[in-house]
Amino acid sequence: MLLKYIRCVHRFYPHLTSPSKGEAPAPKGTPFEPGGGTLVAMADLSSCLLPVPDDLTRPYWQAAWEGRLELPRCTACGRWRFPPIATCDACGSPAFAWTPVSGQGNVYSFGVIHENFIKGFDPPYVVAQIELAEQPGLCIMANILDCPPRRVAIGMAVSVTFEQVSDTIRLPQFRPVG
Ligand SMILES: [Zn+2]
Repeated sequence: MLLKYIRCVHRFYPHLTSPSKGEAPAPKGTPFEPGGGTLVAMADLSSCLLPVPDDLTRPYWQAAWEGRLELPRCTACGRWRFPPIATCDACGSPAFAWTPVSGQGNVYSFGVIHENFIKGFDPPYVVAQIELAEQPGLCIMANILDCPPRRVAIGMAVSVTFEQVSDTIRLPQFRPVG
């Protein structure tokens, strides 16, 4: 169940999570290799880390391309669930609909990446969990843009913005409010 959840998360955040088996090569000796140690060659994984929409994630990426953040919401009880696990953890219903959220939230947790393991990524940068205003515990992973990493703080108010990274993909990202 946990592995299934992690794979589901990776489908939404390939650009923020390390490559998993079968999706991208993990050169020997890189930090992506389980138990791996020294970085011996810089991995050029930036292109294969771009999201590839599939039947599950296509509505999410289509909405992002059009400038909306949409997340799955249980059509039986109204609870948000992201990523869209098989059944609602409140009522057990499998039914959900992709529904717009406000894009407002707060930094729930974050880390600052200082090492440049992947070409195309320019450290230092922030990988954060954003707790959205719609529901306690409803979190989305993103980078924090337009803000020096040293200024990012737990609880900081942020709002969504969309970063175009290819001809078809705009990533939901966040920036400080005000
Ligand atoms: Zn429900």
